[in-house]
Amino acid sequence: MKVVTVVGARPQFIKEAAVSAELRKEFDEVLVHTGQHFDYNMSEQFFEELSIPKPDYNLGISGGTHAQMTGKMMMAIEEVLIKEKPDWLLVFGDTNSTLAAALSAAKLKIPICHVEAGARTHCMTNPEEINRICTDHVSTLLLASAEDGFNELKKEGLGSKSLLVGNTMYDAFVKYSNVRRIDSMKLELLTGEEIDVPDKYYYLTCHREENTSEKNLSEILKAMNSLDYPTVYPVHPRNRELILKLGDFPNILFVKPVGYLESVCLVKNAEKIVTDSGGLQTEAFFAGKKCVTVLDFVCWPETMVNNRNELSRPIAEEIVEKISHEQIIDENYKPFGDGKSAVKIVRALVEKSKQLN
Ligand code: UDP
Repeated sequence: MKVVTVVGARPQFIKEAAVSAELRKEFDEVLVHTGQHFDYNMSEQFFEELSIPKPDYNLGISGGTHAQMTGKMMMAIEEVLIKEKPDWLLVFGDTNSTLAAALSAAKLKIPICHVEAGARTHCMTNPEEINRICTDHVSTLLLASAEDGFNELKKEGLGSKSLLVGNTMYDAFVKYSNVRRIDSMKLELLTGEEIDVPDKYYYLTCHREENTSEKNLSEILKAMNSLDYPTVYPVHPRNRELILKLGDFPNILFVKPVGYLESVCLVKNAEKIVTDSGGLQTEAFFAGKKCVTVLDFVCWPETMVNNRNELSRPIAEEIVEKISHEQIIDENYKPFGDGKSAVKIVRALVEKSKQLN
C-alpha cells in the first residue's frame, strides 16, 4: 500500500524523522515537501542530520498570505495525489501544509491519517488552531499525542476514529537527544562570528505570529537581557529583520537557527527555557527543564503541572517573575507515551487499512 506524506515546516521534519523508517517497513512512502520552510538551516539541514529520505516532490511554495499559501499548496498537492493515487495521506501537526494536504485529499476521497490530532488551544485567533480543527474533521484516522487531545476528539464526536499513540516529538527526543555534546558545539552569531556555548545560559525561541510585533518582542528581549546568565536565542527567519532593528541586548546571543540535534542539546543543558513554540515546551518537559511560555493560550496542558511550564503575557516583569519560580518534577508522570509512538502509528494504519478494504 502507498502513503503520501506531506511535510513543510521544521517541526514536521522532526516528526517525519521519528516515523518514516517505521512506516517504510509496511508501506511505500512518497514524501512531499511543500516548501513552506526553505532556508538551509530551517529545512535541508534537518533532512541531512536526521537522515530523512529525500522528498520525492518539492513544491517550492512559501510566503504570501495564509490563503495564498494554502491555496497554492492545495492545487499542487492535488496534482501529486491524482498522479500517485495513494491509499493514505499522512500529515503531522498544524501548519498550512497540513491543512492544504488534508483538504486536497478529502476532496479526492483519499483517507487521511492525522498525527497530533486533538491538540487544542481553544483560541480561534491562533492560526494553527483553525488548521488543527479542520484537519481533524476531514481525517479518517486521528492519532492523539496525549490524553487531553484524545478527550478533545471524543468531545468533538470524533472518538470512534481516534487512538492515543503518544508524542512523536518524544520519540525523536529519545532517539536523538544524546547525539550532540554541548562541549563540542559552536554557535554562529547573526553577524557570522562563531562562539562557544556559555557554561550557563537560558534558551529562548520565539517566532509565533502573536509575538512578532515590535512591542511583544522587545518585552521578551528586555526580560531575557535582565537575567543572571546570558540567553541563547536562535533567531527564526521571521524575526530576523525586526531583531536587527531593535538594537542592543548585550546579554542575549542572537544566533542563526540551529539544527535539531543542536537544539535538543541546548535544551538539555540550559538553566531554563523561554519559548512560544509548541515543540520547545514539550522538549523542556522531556528534559526536565523549567519552561515559561509567552502566549495567552495553553498548547500542551500536560506540561502545565507543578510550575513546570507557566504561561506569561509578553510583559518583561511578568516573564522574569515566572522564570524565578521553581518547578517540582514527579519522575513517574509521563503523559507523552513511551517513545514508541511511531510503531503505534504504523500499527494503527495497518489495522485501519484492513477495515477500509
Ligand atoms: N528547533 C531547532 N532549531 C532552532 C529552534 C528550534 O531545531 O533553531 C527545534 C526545536 O528543538 C523543536 C522544533 O524546532 O524541536 C520546534 O519547531 P518550531 O518552534 O518551529 O515550531 P512549533 O513547535 O511551534 O510548531
